[in-house]
Amino acid sequence: MKKIGILGSTGSIGTQTLEIVRSNPDLQVIALAAGSNVSLMEQQVREFHPMLAVMGSEEAATDLKNRIADTDTRVSAGMEGMLELAILPQMEVLVTAIVGMIGIRPTIAAIKAGKTIALANKETLVTAGHIIMPLAKEKGVSILPVDSEHSAIFQSMHGENRERVSKILLTASGGPFRGKKTEELQDITVEDALKHPNWSMGRKITAKWLFDVEPEQIQVVVHPQSIIHSMVEYVDGGIMAQLGMPDMKLPIQYALFYPDRRPMDGRRVDFFALKSISFEEPDIKTFRGLQLAYDAIAAGGSMPTVFNAANEKAVGLFLDKKIRFLAIYDLIQGAMEQHKVIANPTVDEILEAEAQAHAYISGKLS
Ligand code: NDP
Repeated sequence: MKKIGILGSTGSIGTQTLEIVRSNPDLQVIALAAGSNVSLMEQQVREFHPMLAVMGSEEAATDLKNRIADTDTRVSAGMEGMLELAILPQMEVLVTAIVGMIGIRPTIAAIKAGKTIALANKETLVTAGHIIMPLAKEKGVSILPVDSEHSAIFQSMHGENRERVSKILLTASGGPFRGKKTEELQDITVEDALKHPNWSMGRKITAKWLFDVEPEQIQVVVHPQSIIHSMVEYVDGGIMAQLGMPDMKLPIQYALFYPDRRPMDGRRVDFFALKSISFEEPDIKTFRGLQLAYDAIAAGGSMPTVFNAANEKAVGLFLDKKIRFLAIYDLIQGAMEQHKVIANPTVDEILEAEAQAHAYISGKLS
C-alpha cells in the first residue's frame, strides 16, 4: 500500500490524482489539502477517509469540521495545517498540486521529512529551485515531475546516462494564437485566451532545475498536435521521445508508481488517423513571454520569481477584463526591469520579491 497526501486535492490535478487512486486499490490517501471548496473536500473526505484534511482558511476549516463531525478525519487550517500535512509520518508521497508560491514551504518541509515529491506545482521550482533541488539531493528525496512535458523528459531519460544528454527539446502546442502577429493580438478576448495554454512561461525554468541542465541546452519546439510531449537528444545524436494522447493522468500515474508502469484506460495514438505531425520555431518576437522567460533564467536569483509573480498577476487582470492581452507582456517586462536581483534568495526574500512584483503591477493600474 502506497500512502499519499495531496496539496490542492480539489483542483484539476488533485481530482485527476484521486481518479487514479480510485482505479489503483494499492494507493491510500492519508491527507488532503485545499483552499476554499468545502463541499468537494467533504465529498473527498467521505470517499477516501484521510487522517487529515486541511482548508486554506480558518473559516473554511470550521465549515468542514462541522460537516464531517461524524467522521474520523481531523481538520486543520492554513499554512500551519499544510506544514503539518507535509510531515505526517504515515505519508510516503506528497503530490504538490496547489497553485502558486504558497507551495514552497510545505514542499521544503516534506523534503526535510524524507517524503517523495510528485511535483505539479511548478512555481516552487521556478522560484525556489536553488533551495529545493540541493535539499532534495542532500536528503536523498526524489522529485518526480507531474506535468506532461517534464514527465516526457523524465521518461525519455529513464535508463540513460544523464551526463550524455546534449539537449532537451521541450514541445509546446503554441495555443490558438499560433501564427498570429502582434497587430492581431491587440483585441484578443478573454474567451479566446482561455483556450490559450500558458505554455512557455515557466516550463523552461522548471526543466533547468529538474534535469540539471544549462538553459542553452533547452530548446522550445512548437508542435501543434501535442502528441510528442517532449524529447531528449543525446551526445550521439540519438533522440528519445515520449508520445501519447494528451492526458494529464498518465504523468500523474507515472510519478505515483515510478519506475513501474501501470495499465491505464484511455484513447491511444492512431498514427493512421493522425497521418502527420509538424514542428515550428517559436515566434519569440510576437509571443514575448518566452523571451522574458529566457531573460529571467539568464538573470537568475530572484528574477524568475518576479517573472512568475508578474505573469500570474497580469494574466489574472486580463481574465478579469481589466487589461488587454498585450499589456500582460508589458507588465511582466516592467516588473522585471524595476527589480534588483538577489543572487540566492531565501524563502522570505522570494515572497518579498513576489509582493513587490504584485505591488508594481497594482501601482501601474491605479
Ligand atoms: P487548480 O486551480 O485547478 O487547483 C488549485 C488547487 O489549489 C485547488 O485544490 C485549490 O483549492 C488549492 N488552493 C488554492 N489556494 C489554496 C490555499 N491558499 N491553501 C490550500 N489550497 C489552495 O490548479 P491545477 O490543478 O490546474 O494546477 C495545480 C498546479 O499544477 C499548478 O502549479 C499548475 O501550474 C500545475 N500544472 C497543472 C497542469 C494542468 O493540466 N492543470 C499541468 C501541469 C502542471 P480550492 O479550489 O478548494 O480553493
